[in-house]
Amino acid sequence: MNPEPLGNRIVLLPGDGIGPEIGAAATKILRALGDFEVTEQPIGGASIDQHGTALTDEVLDVCRNSDALLLCAVGGPKWDTTDLDAPRPEQGLLGLRKGLGLFANLRPVRPSEALLDASPLRRERIEGTDLLVVRELTGGIYFGDSGRDGDRAHDDCAYTVDEIERISRVAFEAAIERRGQVTSVDKANVLETSRLWRETVTRLAPEYGEVELDHLLVDNAAMQLVSRPADFDVIVTENLFGDILSDEAAMLTGSLGMLPSASLGEKGPGLFEPVHGSAPDIAGQGIANPLATFLSVAMMLRYGLGMHDQASRLDAAVDAALADGLRTPDLSGGEGTREVGTGEMTDAVLAKL
Ligand code: NAD
Repeated sequence: MNPEPLGNRIVLLPGDGIGPEIGAAATKILRALGDFEVTEQPIGGASIDQHGTALTDEVLDVCRNSDALLLCAVGGPKWDTTDLDAPRPEQGLLGLRKGLGLFANLRPVRPSEALLDASPLRRERIEGTDLLVVRELTGGIYFGDSGRDGDRAHDDCAYTVDEIERISRVAFEAAIERRGQVTSVDKANVLETSRLWRETVTRLAPEYGEVELDHLLVDNAAMQLVSRPADFDVIVTENLFGDILSDEAAMLTGSLGMLPSASLGEKGPGLFEPVHGSAPDIAGQGIANPLATFLSVAMMLRYGLGMHDQASRLDAAVDAALADGLRTPDLSGGEGTREVGTGEMTDAVLAKL
């Protein structure tokens, strides 16, 4: 999993909505942390406007030949369409994942101490939460055959043993580095792909004897995630379930604006991006929370470029800015806090660095 320090060539893909604002902020952070060669490329709606497609072959090539990718967000009402033949922004993201073989999506959820009271859950529920959602990213229903026939539509879901094995290994290996516990989430009481999933994960488990494995049905998992989040260590699940559960887990932190993610393949550059979307409702207002993107930069330094010290410095700088009481409007405030915009939050993190 991208084990070697891979260099300093970063492709920045700002995308749409708040993407360019938080991308510019992230570039400042990178400049403060080291000597990076940052190349900016269009993706999503921005690429559709320029080239008629959400990801050009040229951009995919530039990405392939880089050391790490930082993507901000894609999409927005301008490109929303039910026309099957029209290009859609998220095709850029899916194309990148497929083109680079990024099959594993890692989403850590660890609410910052300063934000424990900003969560919709009570402090005592979320205190101690430190979990990692490992989501399969290149299989399942998002990549199956789909189509329409008159008033009927279909989306097929398929998984192979190989696909399930490689994502399970990522989860087991992550658990060894953490608290040694994997929860596999499926819908094995209904779906055949889930039964294959459960069989395969269970068969691999003895290879990782020190890891404790349990299984949850996805509807139950959705409930347990809010009732006892601190009990989870690593959650591994398929593409669609992972998409939904990781957004649910996001709320534990109080805001989507706080969650980073990494998408890794067996080799080549990893893709690092905030979990949130392009937030078109607040785009251009200078109030977007840049912290999920900064934390994604930290994941990029750690998992993509092998720069562990700089990664830890950045994580600590984000915590310190929050501890000083700075809050973008998406983070609920409270006593001793002050509302700031993207620019002031960025400057605060830079100062802490
Ligand atoms: P969203 O994450 O963009 O926004 C949901 C809510 O959270 C909005 O109220 C938004 O203002 C707020 N929010 C999100 N990020 C924020 C930030 N950094 N700072 C402050 N507030 C923030 O999700 P959505 O509204 O469902 O989708 C909007 C667009 O984004 C759609 O076109 C969707 O397809 C796209 N999208 C893209 C990605 C991606 O690029 N990875 C992910 C999800 C959605």
